[in-house]
Amino acid sequence: LSIALADRVREERALREEAQQHALAVEHAAREELEQAVDDRTRELNDAMVQLQAANEQLEQLSNVDGLTSVHNRRFFDNMLEEYWTESEKDDSDLSLILFDVDHFKQVNDIHGHLLGDECLKAIAGCIHEVMDSHDHVLARYGGEEFAAILPGVDGNRAAELAEAVRMAVAKLKIRFEDREISVKISAGVAGRKDRVDSALQLVNWADHALYQAKETGRNRICRYG
Ligand code: GH3
Ligand code: MG
Ligand code: MG
Repeated sequence: LSIALADRVREERALREEAQQHALAVEHAAREELEQAVDDRTRELNDAMVQLQAANEQLEQLSNVDGLTSVHNRRFFDNMLEEYWTESEKDDSDLSLILFDVDHFKQVNDIHGHLLGDECLKAIAGCIHEVMDSHDHVLARYGGEEFAAILPGVDGNRAAELAEAVRMAVAKLKIRFEDREISVKISAGVAGRKDRVDSALQLVNWADHALYQAKETGRNRICRYG
């Protein structure tokens, strides 16, 4: 009886151990499966985050860019001008602004159509960038056929020279659309921070005054405020 009892006890212990091992194996497998699922989910979330970040950056970029000419838009210009103004006041450095305006652009549209007009705006934007290539600058489409260039570290004289170089380069452009080819002229107004300017807004105002003067005195020219 005692031998049978001992056998029974051993048998039960073996069964219990086997059941425990089975339970452990099941628990282990379940934990591994869970960990794998968590890893997969984390990876998916990370991928989604990266994609979201890229989309956000693209959106941010697009919200700062003019759709037609690919230069910056007015919103970006306003923000950057304030930033550069604050910087230049802090360390009393130069800062200039050029406002460009296409001469008699309404006529260009009226005579040759808006599509050729659009080509002109794209070509002019590219030309301004090219001339200012060696200078740190922010170029924006300020209005319909107006462009504004912020030139940090550049004084009014140098800015006027650059504006003149742009004027000449634009005059040489041959702008084509379908079977038409035309040239356009531009005028520009220039103002430098050290031309007795008190604020970013005033810098724009003085450049605008100078532009008005350029238009009044015959167009296809650069005027500097002061
Ligand atoms: P001014 O020499 O005095 O500057 O004369 P202007 O004809 O250039 O000036 P005005 O302000 O009378 O006309 C500006 C024209 O610019 C009118 C408008 O049709 C044109 N324009 C504005 N935005 C765009 C655009 O995105 N594409 C095209 N094709 N034309 C535009
Ligand atoms: Mg205009
Ligand atoms: Mg114009």
